[in-house]
Amino acid sequence: MQYGCVGQEVQQRFVDVTQQAVDAPYFPMTLGVRAQAMKLSFVAPDTQGHFLAPDLPVRTVLQHQEDVFQSSFSGAKVYHHAHVGETLSLIYAPFYIDSCAVDAVLNRPVSDPLPEGVMDGFAVSETFHWPLRFVPALCPSCGWDLSGERNALVLSCTNCNRAWQPVGAALKPVPVMFLPGHETADLYVPFWRIAADVTGLALSSYADLVRVANLPKVVQKGWDKIPCYFWSPAFRLSPKAFLSLSIQMNLTQPQENPAAGNPPGSCYPATLPVKEAAEALKISLAGMMKPAETRMPMLPQISIRPTRFALVYIPFQSGHQEWLQPEYHIAINKNLLTLTDH
Ligand SMILES: [Zn+2]
Repeated sequence: MQYGCVGQEVQQRFVDVTQQAVDAPYFPMTLGVRAQAMKLSFVAPDTQGHFLAPDLPVRTVLQHQEDVFQSSFSGAKVYHHAHVGETLSLIYAPFYIDSCAVDAVLNRPVSDPLPEGVMDGFAVSETFHWPLRFVPALCPSCGWDLSGERNALVLSCTNCNRAWQPVGAALKPVPVMFLPGHETADLYVPFWRIAADVTGLALSSYADLVRVANLPKVVQKGWDKIPCYFWSPAFRLSPKAFLSLSIQMNLTQPQENPAAGNPPGSCYPATLPVKEAAEALKISLAGMMKPAETRMPMLPQISIRPTRFALVYIPFQSGHQEWLQPEYHIAINKNLLTLTDH
């Protein structure tokens, strides 16, 4: 997800791009939509073929994306921009080398006749040792089987009620909570609740938030004592829905005391790392600051430093086409959440 605070508005888009990782003009520069349209498999040590070693640094690839993004806002003042939730993958596309390079999927030549010995110039590894590592899904605390969806980033232990996420080769604890007292909830949806030090703008209490977002409320006594948290969906959504849901949760500032532990019902999997969610905090702030014309230019001077986080599951009810959180007046279109077992 790419976001830009441009003029008085936050613009967003979803980007999925490929770029050749070898400096080789004989092959196509991008895969186009093929990486999205075709089923991909993991490279295994016994996968046949010669694998060209990538020689473009990841930084160069990312910088290129950054340049394309920046240039798309020509003319308007960009106060802040951010990439959120990016996943970088190395994808090998198959080619035959005959007198020219042949696309092995379409069986079609893609280059002019190749000069003699051209392939000798590439670094090739004959046997490919893919560093695929497995982390046993066992609770490091009590040894119980951890549960979670196939794509879940955070796994839960139903025995000792802890939550874990893989970090390198180990499982690290994740502070997990849920809003209690909603036994009839149909689905618990995960959010990161992030405490942060904000400088360049007074935003440490609910009273501050009311002023920053210019909410139609009169600041009540005691609101300056209620801490203000940043909330972010802990899962992937379309960029627009992600921003809108973040802002709704930030303005709601759930005040119920969450209970520690995993929720007592089915959960939507947490798939977005807290680090990625933290990249979106300033974007989400930009989206709720009012009035935009005076607040937006302040963005470059504002810094947000996350200090603590917790994964908080919020109960939702199943509606016709939406997941509903009646107390917060939040509805998430069911099409946006891809459920496998509901
Ligand atoms: Zn356990």
